[in-house]
Amino acid sequence: MHPTLRTFTGPLRWEEGRAGENDPVMTKSLPLIFTAPRRGRPPTHLADLGPQARRDAVVAAGAPAFRADQLARHYFTNLTRDPAQMTDLPAAGRVEFVDALLPELLTEVRSISCDDGDTRKTLWRAHDGTLIESVLMRYPERITLCVSSQAGCGMACPFCATGQGGLDRNLSTAEIVDQVRLAAAAARDGALGAPGRLSNVVFMGMGEPLANYNRVLAAVRLITAPAPQGLGISARSVTVSTVGLVPAIERLTRENLQVRLAVSLHTPDDELRDTLVPVNDRWKVDEVLAAARGYADATGRRVSIEYALIRDVNDQPWRADLLAATLRRHLGRLVHVNLIPLNPTPGSQWDASPRPVQDEFVRRVRAGGVACTVRDTRGQEIAAACGQLAAASKG
Ligand code: SAH
Repeated sequence: MHPTLRTFTGPLRWEEGRAGENDPVMTKSLPLIFTAPRRGRPPTHLADLGPQARRDAVVAAGAPAFRADQLARHYFTNLTRDPAQMTDLPAAGRVEFVDALLPELLTEVRSISCDDGDTRKTLWRAHDGTLIESVLMRYPERITLCVSSQAGCGMACPFCATGQGGLDRNLSTAEIVDQVRLAAAAARDGALGAPGRLSNVVFMGMGEPLANYNRVLAAVRLITAPAPQGLGISARSVTVSTVGLVPAIERLTRENLQVRLAVSLHTPDDELRDTLVPVNDRWKVDEVLAAARGYADATGRRVSIEYALIRDVNDQPWRADLLAATLRRHLGRLVHVNLIPLNPTPGSQWDASPRPVQDEFVRRVRAGGVACTVRDTRGQEIAAACGQLAAASKG
């Protein structure tokens, strides 16, 4: 794909020709990409900088240092980068000053709503033309934003639209934070009907968050810092979802944060996981779950196990039993399974499991002593699930 990328060259077990006749046929073999290409760096933004660097940048732009705090208040508390609303800044040169410190990072390409207006997906264009998406969802008790952490993804999961498109680049800290800032403003201003407060953020949009570790962590800190230094969302309401990059999970464990960890397991056995989540070649199920246990012990929080249920691939009753036993062994009660009915990507021969099969799967996981719920499938009619909008727009 991208010949200049450093790629993981371990054996990928799902290359063409290896599958038996009755196995799910996987037609594409993509390299795993851990290191994003260095291209198209977005302009530096206040949200990319620490406190001293913010003041330095303000002074470099010709203003007194205290204006850094004023800008932060406009951005994180008032959720705006509109100079017209910043009447506490001198009118002369205000537009240029704001443009220098709070440059426009994301412009809306389009937004689509569905689920009676409770789900709203937005496609954003970054300064270099890169397309990313985020999805805002209203539930009775909360408003959740699904954010992207990378443009594209290098993890190559064969059932995921983003994974099939490869990695374009990492998003900057501010590009991640700005998705949240824009969504919080949209929720406040009634984009989902009655005005509401953005309460939850899940890193389940495009990309592998732990492959863009430093920027994602900086973004998490800004999303959770109290206003005016951050967006003031509770860390417990932020979920970081990963394919299972073990060293990065261990690093996250040491950060002392209360964010929820979600692990995309998709099957309890290595043989199938090698094909569904190619990074399993590096870190096996046991290692991933041991790292998840370390996180659960350090934070006292239950780990979410993501499981996309795929018809005749990973939905067998025996797999449900094995899943429950494996999770009990590793995580005890500090675990919760989140079943996601597969959202078939265009051109894929895979499908969601029939309802009775799904029900039996849930029943068996619960009977094995593990909490299990089925995620409601928001946004299907607008391809809001799993990278499909940006993939479609790329053509
Ligand atoms: N890279 C991270 C976050 C991205 S996606 C991760 O893998 O966890 C969030 C979840 O959606 C993951 O569990 C992913 O496996 C799942 N997913 C991706 N494509 C899907 C599809 N077509 N149907 C159902 N779930 C999907």
